[in-house]
Amino acid sequence: MSSNFVLKNVTLAAGETKDIQVSDGFITSVGAGLVADEMIDCNGLVALPGFVDLHTHLREPGFEQSETVLTGTQSAALGGFTAVHAMANTMPVADTAGVVEQVASLGIEAGYAEVFPIGAVTIGLEGKQLAELGAMANSKAQVKVFSDDGKCVHDPVIMRRALEYVKAFEGVIAQHAQEPRLTEGAQMHEGAVSAELGLTGWPSVAEESIIARDVLLAEHVNSRIHICHLSTAGSVEIIRWAKARGIKVTAEVTPHHLLLTDELVRSFDSVYKVNPPLRTAQDVEALREALIDGTIDIIATDHAPHPIESKDCEWNAAAFGMLGLETAASIAQEVLIESGKSSWTRLAEVLSFAPARIGGDSNQGQMIQAGSVANIVLIDPKARRKVVADSASKSKNSPYVGLELPGRVVHTIFKGYFTVRDSQLANWGRR
Ligand SMILES: [Zn+2]
Repeated sequence: MSSNFVLKNVTLAAGETKDIQVSDGFITSVGAGLVADEMIDCNGLVALPGFVDLHTHLREPGFEQSETVLTGTQSAALGGFTAVHAMANTMPVADTAGVVEQVASLGIEAGYAEVFPIGAVTIGLEGKQLAELGAMANSKAQVKVFSDDGKCVHDPVIMRRALEYVKAFEGVIAQHAQEPRLTEGAQMHEGAVSAELGLTGWPSVAEESIIARDVLLAEHVNSRIHICHLSTAGSVEIIRWAKARGIKVTAEVTPHHLLLTDELVRSFDSVYKVNPPLRTAQDVEALREALIDGTIDIIATDHAPHPIESKDCEWNAAAFGMLGLETAASIAQEVLIESGKSSWTRLAEVLSFAPARIGGDSNQGQMIQAGSVANIVLIDPKARRKVVADSASKSKNSPYVGLELPGRVVHTIFKGYFTVRDSQLANWGRR
């Protein structure tokens, strides 16, 4: 297939109808009456910059039975993503230049999205000794985001040093905020439901106390910090305070924390077991408001594939985590558009522009205008779809199966090539 085409009659985020011309990987023109050999009718479809996920678990190397870079990025493409940041909790851990370069080259080989490896903050995610952040930053993978995600960088001295260190190359530390001593053996959100079910609770303060500490540390050393998967109303209040104070903090929320509550745990279906845990309806409401008013900067999926045997067991033994790449856009649409409270412009900000800025992804999150790299997603906003278990991911742990969600990703264009066409993975032109 040609890489020169016109997307006819797309609706841009601000509402106007235009044609988009794509040639050789770039947007060459946005206007009316554009012509090319291949014309693609996009009447009724919303065109947005390709989505960027700052928090994806691709599982390779080491856990290929859950996901690979190929299947994870295929799942990403189906969800409208043209870039993902791959978390470091692989086997071996991505704590050296060698491993991050391996992940980056697997991404290039797969070809479905740009893959940015996240480097571990500490060696082996053990929280004891700083990893070689500089070597990873200076490697071919050019790592800018560092995280021990899955684990919290709980030692304040290590966190302070990491924050100081990444300033040299404009990096950022992404913190999984979970005070380990306050969450020993924790199985779900600590509250009325956990008391009734007799499950060990996971108090909100375990998250909030780390966020409070870390924004103060970031202020103290004048560095940048990003907080992963905010899940409580109190966390929102701390971020709001920190931003008002001028602290360089950004924050993400997952699709599941915008939609699901701890009431679901009553089913004892381990598909709802996730870290941080599903919280209360009041927390969900606070997170939604914060996403709309800008206190929370981005939606990040925390796509966490697990094989059936890790989930198909009793609650206490099951692994934490759920899939998210193929449903994120629909949940964003539900929260921002269907609610009548926000806009497609905001949706593009939280799923593309802002995550690309935070991650330092220069070819991502560009405006839909002449000269931009052609990373584009086209969504049918009127479609309604029932989520099915079948997906491009190797794993099946989606909490949304059976739910009806708004919107459908129709086309995903990555560097000028269709990775998804008519909602199907494309056998794209380059290979
Ligand atoms: Zn995490």
